[in-house]
Amino acid sequence: MDKVNCDLAIIGSGSTGLSAVIAAYCKNPDLVIKAFGISYDSNTAKKGDIENIPGVDKIIGVDYIQKLTEQIEKFSSEFTPEQPTDTHFPIIELINENVISLNTLGSDFEIKTPDQSYVSKAVIISTGIPELKGTIKGEDEFVHKGVSHCAVCDGALFRGRKAVIVGTGNIVARGALFLRKYCRKITILCHTTTLECDKRYLRKLTTSSNIQIKYKIPINSLEVFGSQVVQGIKYKKLQDEKELSADVIFIELKDKPNIVYAENLNLEITEDGYIKTNEKNETNVSGLFVAGTARGEKDYVPILMGDGYKAGVYAVEYLEMKS
Ligand SMILES: Cc1cc2nc3c(=O)[nH]c(=O)nc-3n(C[C@H](O)[C@H](O)[C@H](O)COP(=O)(O)OP(=O)(O)OC[C@H]3O[C@@H](n4cnc5c(N)ncnc54)[C@H](O)[C@@H]3O)c2cc1C
Repeated sequence: MDKVNCDLAIIGSGSTGLSAVIAAYCKNPDLVIKAFGISYDSNTAKKGDIENIPGVDKIIGVDYIQKLTEQIEKFSSEFTPEQPTDTHFPIIELINENVISLNTLGSDFEIKTPDQSYVSKAVIISTGIPELKGTIKGEDEFVHKGVSHCAVCDGALFRGRKAVIVGTGNIVARGALFLRKYCRKITILCHTTTLECDKRYLRKLTTSSNIQIKYKIPINSLEVFGSQVVQGIKYKKLQDEKELSADVIFIELKDKPNIVYAENLNLEITEDGYIKTNEKNETNVSGLFVAGTARGEKDYVPILMGDGYKAGVYAVEYLEMKS
């Protein structure tokens, strides 16, 4: 099968990746851009409302991704090429497939999806950070039987029930605030000494009568228990073994970037496990850029979109120097 050529490939079509597409197109509308990833599979699309995008009223995440997609589609048909060719039309393409491998090919890159191979002069990785799964005793056994990895996605199924959320940070805070509309009682089991979330969320949490937070609960002391379905979770507070009865346990822990598809590239990784980049989003591999949480950026849509935009601009500057 023939390889498809492009100037810039963007791997991961969440808000970070789509922002990089927009930046690259605006900086140079002659470039052929391919963005890879399953449509509407991003955290922005799946994880509920967003109310902190400057200048945008509270918006459902999936609607926001749709707006970005529509904006890209409009750009894509902005200029009609005088002589459309297979390689230069469409100028931007959103490819609804995951990348299974990324390798260098001379000074270019070869990108493979299950259906096609592509060659690109530059690449931006914006595949985010996956959920951490399978670390708690009993977790795997009770998936779909009361264990979930997303309070915002599955919370409404547990109306009137008792819920536990495991984790820390804004994700947990937002999850608990979402659940308070549905669940009778919500307990946050947090392994850190504070919830490490925005104070605006903390204020709402601490004034919610059906939310309780327990701090300094070691993750390795947790054990989900039940018979056919979840009945609760065991945990240790100091040296004491405790038990909480619950109908559902939401495990909201984050992993490190999953870049197995790029394992041959010997990417430099930071001490904290993120892909190492400089201030221009460049990695140790020439022409390969990273944007968003995969390089350790903070997990806020506006920050990640700015970072995606920046990577798009620097990737185009790299391409212009290369040509
Ligand atoms: C419950 C919850 C609520 C949140 N609410 C807010 C909020 O209100 N405000 C806020 O600022 N932030 C919020 N966030 C954080 C925000 O959702 C994330 O910061 C943001 O979605 C990250 O965007 P991203 O594009 O960097 O990564 P992601 O959204 O994770 O997107 C990465 C994309 O890469 C794709 N991908 C992965 N591997 C491959 C591959 N091999 N090939 C191709 N594609 C691949 C994935 O399918 C995905 O589409 C929330 C997060 C959660 C979990």
